[in-house]
Amino acid sequence: MVDTDEKTVQLSLLGEPAGEGLVKETGPEELSLPPGAPKTKAKPEIKPGVKIDLTLADLKESCLQCQACGLRHTAKQVVFGAGSPRAAIMLVGEGPGKQEDEKGEPFVGAAGQLMDKVFAALEISREEVYITNIVKCRPPGNRLPTSQEVGACRPYLQGQIRLIQPRIIVCLGALASQNLISPEIRITRHRGKWVHREGIMLMPTFHPAALLRDPSRKRPFWEDFKAVIQAYRQE
Ligand code: SF4
Repeated sequence: MVDTDEKTVQLSLLGEPAGEGLVKETGPEELSLPPGAPKTKAKPEIKPGVKIDLTLADLKESCLQCQACGLRHTAKQVVFGAGSPRAAIMLVGEGPGKQEDEKGEPFVGAAGQLMDKVFAALEISREEVYITNIVKCRPPGNRLPTSQEVGACRPYLQGQIRLIQPRIIVCLGALASQNLISPEIRITRHRGKWVHREGIMLMPTFHPAALLRDPSRKRPFWEDFKAVIQAYRQE
């Protein structure tokens, strides 16, 4: 079982400062961006009801110009994320693959098509959720991103979490689970078990690409997603 005690918490999901009312109180210039990342433009006009879109758009604008790690030099484009800026469910994968790199959208390859089937079976649309990755630029040859690359890109993911404020985060695969929950996570052992951190429910499960390599993982993946959608609909 995953130890959710404070001692095992390695990272802040939200970055600093964490706490209540972040969306109301946080302007884009206050988000912590990687060293070398371009500064955002002047603070956008804040209007009630539209501020989340503006600030997420501003974070995206900065991310699209980011050169904070070497991945940007080999990737065709930055894949920031897609979906509802007010999504209750955020899916976090590893990094863009070849097709994502070409289209600039997350989860559009074979693994994304598998995700679409799961969404359809559970009667949820892509537009209801928000999908992104631990790193926003494709690692060459689909290798795992290094810890340095993950660290450089972390402020963007933390910014997305702070601005979107999802109730549930689905960690797709070991890299996402180890970075968002605990480095001790072993996905085959810990998948399917909820972890509660900083007011967010996190579900570690397999990356859909792993299902394509090993179909025996489809059933547990399906069970994990059923639990996610059940929790989502309980509110
Ligand atoms: S992977 Fe992240 S930190 Fe690296 S260049 Fe791309 S956006 Fe910047």
